[in-house]
Amino acid sequence: MANQQSDYAVQYQAAQQNPEAYWAEQAGNINWFSPPQTTLEALPNGSHRWYPDGELNSCYLALDQHLATRGDQVALYYDSPASGVKQAISFRELHEQVARFAGTLKGLGVTKGDTVVIYMPMIPEAAVAMLACARIGAVHSVVFGGFAPNELAIRIDDARPKLILTASCGIEFEKLIAYKPLVDKAVDLATHKPLHTLVCQRPMLQADMDPARDLDWYDCQQGAEPADCVPVQGKDPLYILYTSGTTGAPKGIVRDNGGHAVALNYALHNVYGMQAGDVWWGASDIGWVVGHSFIVYGPLMGGCSAIFYEGKPIRTPDAGAFWRVISEYGVNAMFCAPTAFRAIRKEDSDGTLSKQYDLSSLKRLFVAGEKLDSSTYHWLDDLLGVPVIDHWWQTETGWPMTSPMMGWDNPSASRLGSTNKPIPGYDIQVVDGAGQPVEANETGNIVVSLPMPPGVAWDIWNQPQRFTDSYLTAFPGFYHTGDGGFKDDEGYVYITGRTDDVINVSGHRLSTGEMEEVVSAHPAVAECAVIGMQDSLKGQLPVGLVVLKGDVDIDPDVLEAELVQMVREQVGALACFRKAVVVQRLPKTRSGKILRAILRKIAANQDYKMPSTIDDESILGEITDIMHRSGMI
Ligand code: AMP
Repeated sequence: MANQQSDYAVQYQAAQQNPEAYWAEQAGNINWFSPPQTTLEALPNGSHRWYPDGELNSCYLALDQHLATRGDQVALYYDSPASGVKQAISFRELHEQVARFAGTLKGLGVTKGDTVVIYMPMIPEAAVAMLACARIGAVHSVVFGGFAPNELAIRIDDARPKLILTASCGIEFEKLIAYKPLVDKAVDLATHKPLHTLVCQRPMLQADMDPARDLDWYDCQQGAEPADCVPVQGKDPLYILYTSGTTGAPKGIVRDNGGHAVALNYALHNVYGMQAGDVWWGASDIGWVVGHSFIVYGPLMGGCSAIFYEGKPIRTPDAGAFWRVISEYGVNAMFCAPTAFRAIRKEDSDGTLSKQYDLSSLKRLFVAGEKLDSSTYHWLDDLLGVPVIDHWWQTETGWPMTSPMMGWDNPSASRLGSTNKPIPGYDIQVVDGAGQPVEANETGNIVVSLPMPPGVAWDIWNQPQRFTDSYLTAFPGFYHTGDGGFKDDEGYVYITGRTDDVINVSGHRLSTGEMEEVVSAHPAVAECAVIGMQDSLKGQLPVGLVVLKGDVDIDPDVLEAELVQMVREQVGALACFRKAVVVQRLPKTRSGKILRAILRKIAANQDYKMPSTIDDESILGEITDIMHRSGMI
């Protein structure tokens, strides 16, 4: 094989010069029921879809295709320090469970194209649920278990599921979180009423059941016939995954079957360097895109054994939890958000606990989801002595946009602060506000030339126009990532942060607009802005800047406590909204728009240009003073 530079250059060029030929060749690496006749289809809004008419089934690729060759190999290692349970589930066993559950869903009236919401903790039944939907061509929408009922209800009303699948509880450290009452409340709040709620009763907490609506997970499988894989088209949706956008309502990102399967196969081998039989650990949650791509579908489609971990990096039982899992299962490569390692380091700064374990199986550590700070990078690099690889992607893309290519002879070297070079298929450009390319090392908006490669979303559920407006309109001819950053002279990409009102708390993407809606609903609040502040552990934390109504007299501490509680109840604990500061007024344009971008810059201690449209410049000084006094900066 050629050396690293030529390999990368050759592959990258090939994908640039003839995307259709490049990705047609990659499509040949997966098992279609009927191969696509069309490789690339341009859509009227400027986006594209791949392999629209190929026939396949994502569950077949994850399970059935392996039965003859690796049926007895472990597909999922379920490890739950949270509940004290460990299970090794083979491809054959998982196939049996999934086929039976798929038959059960069918029996309950779920057919191809129907939607099913999954609100579950990290138990194997959750993976079974996802794969069973895929098997019968139903579209799953997994909602992260940390979201409050109100957020779940919004997603239920948008996805309009036939069924909701849940469990009696999740476990946060030693605390049981009863899921079923949250689901009940969400169903009450939602306008759309699913036919049934299927409840997986966990031994540590039994949920109350409403006989008219609720079904027991295992009872309802009695007598169900295993279901076969239903062929779907490449363009058919596999799942909807809601993510935060600039406006309050979450966006239902739609993932297709065909492009997704080809992209995951490509990424598993070339980005992550995994081979069938290897042990892979995506240390995240099925509620996020990484959980879809690289806990469930990617590793299983590639014949890897995947770790399914229900625990935390710390206090389960200690900050050696991750090292224990790596050594116990011989993990070959791992993926995680940097925040987990910051938490481990806080508890065990010398990494002493890692010395108790044999970590020799681990060849590479991948991090993404938020910025990798240099201090955490050095700590991991010194401790583990394996490549620590920062790479960059988003819910919308479903797989990485930049990364060194591991499957190739020599991956391109890491460059601290950079998420590495564009992966073949991604033509990444940095442009100014007018869409003009900026010079190397100059910061701007990070965009990707169309067509995007397979696997990247091309639709928002029920709102195709919103897809166009969100991603294709600001910079015609490009996909707008919403991230800012720059490229250096050699094409390495550096992500500096979001350019919109999205913040990243512990690798979780959240909309400040959603929190502003909750904060503004407090009777004492006239208006507010929620912005992200840097945090050494969680990356960013939201802070509310609140203007009180004129006639209100309320103790700021009481107000803060009430707002914290409201955000917790309506968005969820994952938002980590803990601080609200009263200000006299907020900076605005003459037309009355709050200048959030300026607030973000003040909060980040960055220089800013006074916007020509500002109504009253003196407010910025006031806000800076308040941020200083309240310890925000
Ligand atoms: P999500 O869609 O929840 O996966 O969040 C995607 C966002 O997380 C991106 O748009 C970036 O803002 C951020 N992100 C993901 N990976 C990285 C990374 N390696 N470095 C910096 N930010 C990242």
